[in-house]
Amino acid sequence: MKKPFVTKKQVDEIVKTYPTPFHIYDEKGIRENARKLKEAFSWNKGFREYFAVKATPNPFILKILQEEGCGVDCSSMTELMLSEAVGFKGSDIMFSSNVTPAGEYKKAAELGAYINLDDYTHIEFLEEAAGIPETICCRYNPGGVFSLGTHIMDNPGDAKYGLTKEQMIDAYKKLMAKGAKNFGIHAFLASNTVNNDYYPTLANILFELAVELKEKTSAHISFINLSGGIGIPYTPDKEPNDIMIIGEGVRKAYEKVLVPAGMDDVAIFTELGRYMLGPYGGLVATAIHEKHIYKEYIGLDACAANLMRPAMYGAYHHITVLGKENEPCTHKYDVTGSLCENNDKFAVDRMLPKIDMGDYIFIHDAGAHGYAMGYNYNGKLKSAELLLKEDGSVQLIRRAETAHDYFATFDFCDILKDMKY
Ligand SMILES: *Cc1c(COP(=O)(O)O)cnc(C)c1O
Repeated sequence: MKKPFVTKKQVDEIVKTYPTPFHIYDEKGIRENARKLKEAFSWNKGFREYFAVKATPNPFILKILQEEGCGVDCSSMTELMLSEAVGFKGSDIMFSSNVTPAGEYKKAAELGAYINLDDYTHIEFLEEAAGIPETICCRYNPGGVFSLGTHIMDNPGDAKYGLTKEQMIDAYKKLMAKGAKNFGIHAFLASNTVNNDYYPTLANILFELAVELKEKTSAHISFINLSGGIGIPYTPDKEPNDIMIIGEGVRKAYEKVLVPAGMDDVAIFTELGRYMLGPYGGLVATAIHEKHIYKEYIGLDACAANLMRPAMYGAYHHITVLGKENEPCTHKYDVTGSLCENNDKFAVDRMLPKIDMGDYIFIHDAGAHGYAMGYNYNGKLKSAELLLKEDGSVQLIRRAETAHDYFATFDFCDILKDMKY
């Protein structure tokens, strides 16, 4: 059973200062999970998690992860700017971008970030934009389909990312000729895997590639970046990943492939987003309408602008009606937002306790790719982000958008000058 990390009583208090809807994050959960990840890979001397900023781009959250020893994975100018402002620099930053503008390579190079090239043609592009650094990473795409056992997980052959194996070999040679001395390998082959075999299988592929690259180019491989993709169980019936088993699986592959090749100094990096934050954030909304037509509807004061995954992917997000945790799920509802889009539904045909107007609805697992994917369609404003601190207090970590924010991009002219708000 999924249990919210806040109670109705706490939310009753919070709304006196911060009205719903809001995203709330659980500091304790974030820290404990980050420590566990570190422990799972403690066998590897250089291990480091580079948190994927795009999952939860909030400086207060980045600060917490920084305190837990994490770096950041960026892929845009503003993510680099945010990370710099929080105090990440040099080897704290992995720049894993694609279709990268020259200015972003320049910024990443100025910060001394690890640059992860998404394509062979980016070698010359980077050289022109910022020069070739001593340490550089290339993103690998093995093509075909990626499967675990008999189960096809994803389709790298269809993905826009990375270099082919032949290109990896040529890229390392070319980069060495241009002065690069240390190399990284990166790949992201499947998203939201709830399966302890993903990282170990990926590690095997990348470790074997590392040995081959070393043999063919004599490049020094200093790190292997397993990137993101460790998932979380959005549905209550799924077992969460066991990070200790995952870490041990990667260790076994390391012992089997890298150590015999004399490559026992390779650091393992990760770029997890969802796994680091997903379960430790929730969207809290209030039920403001009920509607009885061909189906039963509950309307919330939140909408897909606050959490897009259900509308975009039909993704399941578990829902708890706060204060009714122990009541039987006797009512079948569609739980919706207010967008003029019929896919603006947080849940379809969901069995829940009877919902009354004014009930608080806790939407689980919104901590990663939640607020971050928000948008302003229908003129909807993005919600606040709050932090439930370890001492039980609540801190505002991003205020809610106002109409001023929404109209701010017309501030170059006076067409809205008479607007009253
Ligand atoms: C999105 C992304 C991640 C994080 O993915 P999760 O599924 O959140 O773990 C890591 N690296 C890169 C390059 C990404 O694009």
